[in-house]
Amino acid sequence: MQHPDSILSLLKKSEDFLKKKEIASARLDAEILLADLLGLQRVKLYVNFEKLLNETEKNAYRDRIVDRSKNKPTAYITGQKSFYNSVFYVNENVLIPRPETEELVEKILSEFKEDTGEKSVLDLCTGSGCIGISLQLARKNWKTTLSDISKEALEIAKKNAAQILEETNSIQFLESDLFSSIPTELKFDLIATNPPYIPLTDKEGMMKDVVDYEPHLALFLENPKEFLSQLIADAHSRLKEDGKFYMETLPALANDLVLESLTKGWRKGKVEKDLSAKNRFIVLTK
Ligand code: GLN
Repeated sequence: MQHPDSILSLLKKSEDFLKKKEIASARLDAEILLADLLGLQRVKLYVNFEKLLNETEKNAYRDRIVDRSKNKPTAYITGQKSFYNSVFYVNENVLIPRPETEELVEKILSEFKEDTGEKSVLDLCTGSGCIGISLQLARKNWKTTLSDISKEALEIAKKNAAQILEETNSIQFLESDLFSSIPTELKFDLIATNPPYIPLTDKEGMMKDVVDYEPHLALFLENPKEFLSQLIADAHSRLKEDGKFYMETLPALANDLVLESLTKGWRKGKVEKDLSAKNRFIVLTK
């Protein structure tokens, strides 16, 4: 018989509770929340099954499980999310970085190899900073600007840059509603962005984890087509000749946005699929 305060018993109890509350990833979340609390890697829980939690640990774990049962995302409870080669600090002021966005970073880095020289790069709507910081980490000779409309988000991006990058001289932060406060004399070789793109009307069918906790400003738009067309047109004027634009987007709009861009002065354009075969990215060349 297991002791009720053992890791094994507490995991089982938490898993059952989360399942009852219809949390889909009950076991995984119970493990992540406990491992993080105890400062252990998740696999290490399995070799410490008999270990007993003290009173403080038990209370803290209970609080975490209660939060999760109310659909609070695990990343906001632990305050972190792995993305590409780093761990980003996150809270409710920023979107939790998604795997699709890692694919966007990967595409950019595979196109711009190590030896492509110095580049000036903009990560528009940077949120946690995950795109721009991952690029800067991989390409030390780039100069990256991270911008966001939200002061709170920029504070988090700054914190992440300081934690993840050895030196932050090559990175600058701008509070800006899209391009409006980005000086027009700054011209970029590359603009990467994961802007809000979900139609407000889709909100009803979405998970509570997202709708109840993540910043709506980072997710939803009244009219995605209009907003994204304008964003693309503005990006064109901020790029150098031959500059590249990479955007994560709504699969239903990707083809139209590329076709429209080709009639509006962009030289080249393509849609790229994500790992679930959705038309998730557009890549344009000025
Ligand atoms: N760039 C951040 C991310 O990809 C935030 C995006 C956003 O807030 N729309 O996660």
